[in-house]
Amino acid sequence: MTEPELKTQNSKLKTRKQQRPKHVPQRTCVACRTTGAKRGLVRVVRDAEGRVEVDETGKKPGRGAYLCRAQDCWDAALKRKTLEYALKTPITVDDKAALQAFAATLPTRTEEEKKEELLSTTTES
Ligand SMILES: [Zn+2]
Repeated sequence: MTEPELKTQNSKLKTRKQQRPKHVPQRTCVACRTTGAKRGLVRVVRDAEGRVEVDETGKKPGRGAYLCRAQDCWDAALKRKTLEYALKTPITVDDKAALQAFAATLPTRTEEEKKEELLSTTTES
């Protein structure tokens, strides 16, 4: 008997083959619709009281929406109320100011990234 069997008491359930990496949920920027697993999106969360704030840990309870780490996306999401739609709540002036202050710390998008995005979104001629 050499076969290591599953121990039911084990806290970590190990399958025999680990061929599939853990499923990573796709996160989509609400502003530009880019899925950003690689670069890392920033989560914005609406808490139980309806306050909207940046959730850098990604662990706060509440309804979340994701935005790229790029000022452009934050500006767009706030201006077009995309974020409000995504979170299904109006964002107060205070919260908006806080979000904008956070966005100001983010890099702007490079021209190259914008081009890449255009290439990937415009498929028809
Ligand atoms: Zn974006």
